[in-house]
Amino acid sequence: MPIYDYHCQACDTAFSHLWRTLAAAAGAAPPCPACGSVDTQRVVSQVTVVGGLGGLTPAEKTAENAHWERVAKMTPKEQIDKLRAGKKGPA
Ligand SMILES: [Zn+2]
Repeated sequence: MPIYDYHCQACDTAFSHLWRTLAAAAGAAPPCPACGSVDTQRVVSQVTVVGGLGGLTPAEKTAENAHWERVAKMTPKEQIDKLRAGKKGPA
């Protein structure tokens, strides 16, 4: 049995409604438990993220990928050389 979240436009109450069947839930607006108004709207769950990228925007994901590609291209030797070069400083 599906449970959907709704928001009452009349009294600004948020509530959940348990439907007996999916067919009953389709296109139906349950009455508000607080004021009885049927002027209710289904609230889409915020868990549903477009693309499923864990909350990253496309631009953030691109930047993240570019960062890790740079790290992956560096061999361990290059990383060691880079660390040594950084420690030397002007002699
Ligand atoms: Zn209401």
